[in-house]
Amino acid sequence: MQNMIMRIKKFLTRDVKNESESKDLAVLLRFMCILTSLYMLANAVYFSMNAFYLFAILTIPVICIYATAFVETYENHTKIALNLFNYTTIASSVLFTIFAGWDKNYQWLLCIVCLLIFFSVNENSKYKKNHMEIVLISLVAVSIVSHLFGPHKPGSSITNFFFALSTAIYYGSAVAMVSYYFSKKFNATEIKLRNYNQKLQQMASLDALTQLSNRRSMNEYLSQLAFEKEKKGDTFCIAIADLDFFKKINDQYGHDAGDFILKESAKIFEQTMEGRGKVSRWGGEEFLFCFTDLNLEQSYNVLDEMRRLIETRRFLFKENDIKVTLTIGLEEYYHISGIEGTISSADKKLYEGKHSGRNRVVM
Ligand code: GH3
Ligand code: MG
Ligand code: MG
Repeated sequence: MQNMIMRIKKFLTRDVKNESESKDLAVLLRFMCILTSLYMLANAVYFSMNAFYLFAILTIPVICIYATAFVETYENHTKIALNLFNYTTIASSVLFTIFAGWDKNYQWLLCIVCLLIFFSVNENSKYKKNHMEIVLISLVAVSIVSHLFGPHKPGSSITNFFFALSTAIYYGSAVAMVSYYFSKKFNATEIKLRNYNQKLQQMASLDALTQLSNRRSMNEYLSQLAFEKEKKGDTFCIAIADLDFFKKINDQYGHDAGDFILKESAKIFEQTMEGRGKVSRWGGEEFLFCFTDLNLEQSYNVLDEMRRLIETRRFLFKENDIKVTLTIGLEEYYHISGIEGTISSADKKLYEGKHSGRNRVVM
């Protein structure tokens, strides 16, 4: 039994072959064709029981057209199936309302068509506008004609009860089905967009080579941090580091070796800064560090430890054992100097370090 249900489900949700067609719309149309055919069948029974044989017979071609639309969804003709479903529903709604009476509620089939047209994301607005006009004009015309001339044929009370029940079940299920399909579609699109935006934002804030934050992202971080620290009357430290004689490394071992050193150093920098603040690639072979909660001396100790780690590290690249050192300028942030002033001051200290022999931290 479960196997049978799975097979039916698989058959009904089978994908469309044509890539430009929407699978979801095809599946929705299949369910709508089945549901509306069942509703028409219930009506045929109702009409037969109340001896309205003409209406009972009329439901047969309608069900046949829904069956055709159902088949078309498997033939890569989703648009044809959509149009078949819509036009048949409009025509049967108009005919049945006029000849069976307004009180049988066939006119509201037009609202189901409205929903399908309105939410057809793949259709252009001209298509929607034209079809909505047809639906609205039909609804107004049918309302006038059926109220002026239409019959009100009462059925037996028990069949009326079943008719009302089948109507309620049909409209409830049809609206739920269409809403479910479109909410699923919109949610999926929204999630896709959100993920894409997140990815874009991440790409815009990361340095492609080292995967550290880039200069733009660090500037944003520093502005926010300065704002928060000033409110509390706190301060923080900024350091700028520059690899020594990096041009020589490029010249001697090649640009790839230089890139390798940058990536490996970035990993060490990131490990060092974990839980202490943030590091970014400031540009070329320069990196900017921000210690959020350490004072000048504590920051100095961390940086000097890191400098020693780099100095003693063997960077092995294609059988080359490359030695690297770095020089660092460290400064504490003061409100009066601002971020730019603090960085510029750290930069001056960095150059003091370069001129006094490199491979050191200057504070
Ligand atoms: P100093 O000790 O005075 O800092 O000397 P230096 O050679 O490190 O400084 P200089 O500014 O003369 O050279 C920096 C070099 O860094 C030049 C540039 O080609 C190299 N560089 C900048 N960005 C990259 C990069 O992304 N990859 C590689 N491989 N090299 C880079
Ligand atoms: Mg430099
Ligand atoms: Mg350098």
